Amino acid sequence: MPFDILTIPCLSDNYAFILHEPSTDTVALVDAPSAAPIRAELENRGWKLDLILLTHHHDDHIDGVAELVAAYGSKVIGAAADAHRLPPLDIKVSEGDKIKVGAETGDVLDVSGHTVGHIAFSFPQAKAVFTADSLMALGCGRLFEGKPDQMWASLSKLAALDPGTTVCSGHEYTEANARFALTVDPENAALRDRVDWISKTRAKGGFTVPSTLSEELATNPFLRAGDPAIRADLGMADASDAEVFAEIRARKDRF
Ligand code: ZN
Ligand code: FE
Repeated sequence: MPFDILTIPCLSDNYAFILHEPSTDTVALVDAPSAAPIRAELENRGWKLDLILLTHHHDDHIDGVAELVAAYGSKVIGAAADAHRLPPLDIKVSEGDKIKVGAETGDVLDVSGHTVGHIAFSFPQAKAVFTADSLMALGCGRLFEGKPDQMWASLSKLAALDPGTTVCSGHEYTEANARFALTVDPENAALRDRVDWISKTRAKGGFTVPSTLSEELATNPFLRAGDPAIRADLGMADASDAEVFAEIRARKDRF
């Protein structure tokens, strides 16, 4: 594993991730819902904080930035397109740009949909992607700003990564996502097994994030718009994948 990833629960149901790249002792954070739990973890380990990577402008992903920058002098990386509504950025990035976390190189992906300007950070060598409120464990973010087509294109980019990729998403919404997923894809045995694991894990207070892309491909209804059984159930055998995705997303909004 080229870097270590710590999952930090924040606020009521957010996750932030601390990355430690050991060969250069570089520490990065993905999203800053609140400073306190992140500072506590850094202090425990005797780590500084070199970089803060921001996925999108919502308060529950950026509210801790100012305090962390004041405490550690971290450099902040975020979407150039959203610079006007993100905390001050030291490095502005767009789709196709590369970022460095010590010796690790990450690709910036535009994953607009939940917001327009939402980005993800994919580290192919570490096989990890930080998706926040785009692709989530058994779900995807609500479309506050983008259109279904846009989210479908974003999810399709993520779906094309190595299936062994660890998917680090932004919230512990998985149990509610699971209840919905079963209504769309009830015959899916892999989904039923995963839902079982999710219930047991949550009953013990465990995290269901991160997940793996292969699990999401097998069970996440928002990645499975091409699945013949789902399409048949929806009466959408001849629709485009983007149309099927839009219908599944609309059903989740009403669920
Ligand atoms: Zn959000
Ligand atoms: Fe969020």
